[in-house]
Amino acid sequence: MHLVDHPLVHDALAALRDARTPPEHFRRAATRISVLLATQAMCDLPTRDVTVESPLGPAPGRRVAPDVVVVPVLRAGLGMLDAVLELVPHARVGHIGLQRDEITAVASQYYSKLPSDLGQSYVLMIDPMLATGGSAAAAIDLIKRAGARTIRMICIVAAPPGVAILERQHPDVEVFTPVVDRELNDQKFIVPGLGDFGDRLYGTL
Ligand code: URA
Repeated sequence: MHLVDHPLVHDALAALRDARTPPEHFRRAATRISVLLATQAMCDLPTRDVTVESPLGPAPGRRVAPDVVVVPVLRAGLGMLDAVLELVPHARVGHIGLQRDEITAVASQYYSKLPSDLGQSYVLMIDPMLATGGSAAAAIDLIKRAGARTIRMICIVAAPPGVAILERQHPDVEVFTPVVDRELNDQKFIVPGLGDFGDRLYGTL
């Protein structure tokens, strides 16, 4: 678990937490914070040395070496996808749809489409709210079953139960988040959190 402590991350997080932030500004803050979190999560991305021709001659450079795969967990993870693709435009994208039962908070899968040959890929899973950890753990199970060995996750708010379940079930997966909030309420929402991320993103409150 890596705590990302950057002033711009906290500025965007405060905007996301604010109940008065309308969907338009919520989306922009989600994009801003996702760029910053993804940059941090991918700071160990392997590169290969290249030489490119600048208008003034050959220049040494480095290009991203591995196949990068981004996996948003639907639907809230989609709010972070464009930001990550801005950073890694050539990334392949997988989707995992998990629905949380409103009463039990147990995650069930309704969709999964992952790229093939993940064995050598660098996989970044994006899911903004790490609450019970049930859906994150289930999504990582699916990604591992598809062959992935290097997995990072970014989330925008985490809670102690989610952190604990990932540490127990997937200790190899590095998670990047700005904050671990106090607790979950009876409906398994993070407190103080920011509410239902998907509803606030898409205006479906
Ligand atoms: N999902 C959300 O959108 N918000 C929470 O607080 C927990 C899970």
